[in-house]
Amino acid sequence: MKIQYIDVHAHMNEEIFDKDRDKILKECEEKGIFIINCSGEPKGNKNSLKLLKYKNVNLCLGIYPIQAAEMIDVEFFKELKFIEENKKSIIGLGEVGLDFYWIKDEAKRQLEIERFKEIIWFANKNRLPLNVHSRNAEKETIAILSKMAHVPVVLHAFGGDVELAKMGAAEGFYFSIAPIIVRSKKHQRLVEALPIQNILTETDSPYLGPSRERNDPRNISLVIEKIAEIKEMETEEVRKQILKNVGGVFSIKLKN
Ligand SMILES: [Zn+2]
Repeated sequence: MKIQYIDVHAHMNEEIFDKDRDKILKECEEKGIFIINCSGEPKGNKNSLKLLKYKNVNLCLGIYPIQAAEMIDVEFFKELKFIEENKKSIIGLGEVGLDFYWIKDEAKRQLEIERFKEIIWFANKNRLPLNVHSRNAEKETIAILSKMAHVPVVLHAFGGDVELAKMGAAEGFYFSIAPIIVRSKKHQRLVEALPIQNILTETDSPYLGPSRERNDPRNISLVIEKIAEIKEMETEEVRKQILKNVGGVFSIKLKN
């Protein structure tokens, strides 16, 4: 398969794709769309491993911040162990990070932070890049990653302000942009402010689509087109640059 596009953050393991996952992923393969699937809870991590049968899918496994804040110690470390046992099957950790939008309780936020640090330490130890969620906790996420992460970092669906994003870019972090960019001024401003070298593409399928309908990785080309428009670049030039950028983060495993 000749890779044309890389969706660095999608959730094709989710139930909503049970009826037509095969069809969508086959069409993606025909279009040269490669997908890095992310999951973030025990059942999702287990199910995601089944996606390895697809030629155009690689995996990140993780512990989603909301789950991380709710798990007891035994559950959390058991899941980290599961991820470590499947280390050979993955190319990164995700979805991991911080979420202060859903988690408002101060003690739980502290636990989230502690566990995020634990995950970064694990990433460093296993040399796995991080695929990071940072909703309403962008400042804290960037501060912690700047201090601790010794592996490449992708900030997915970044909702923080432009100044903060620039600080992240100065640290060498990457920002993945989803199809919601066609209807979100916030994401458009982010692309405007960031160097093209720090931008990646994602779909976060089934979320963050060009409309409120179920999103899927076939929408990835919309992201490239919008970035090209904002950056006043050729679509083809953007597409190639993004592929190059992905190489700075993930070691994609191609299958025959
Ligand atoms: Zn996600």
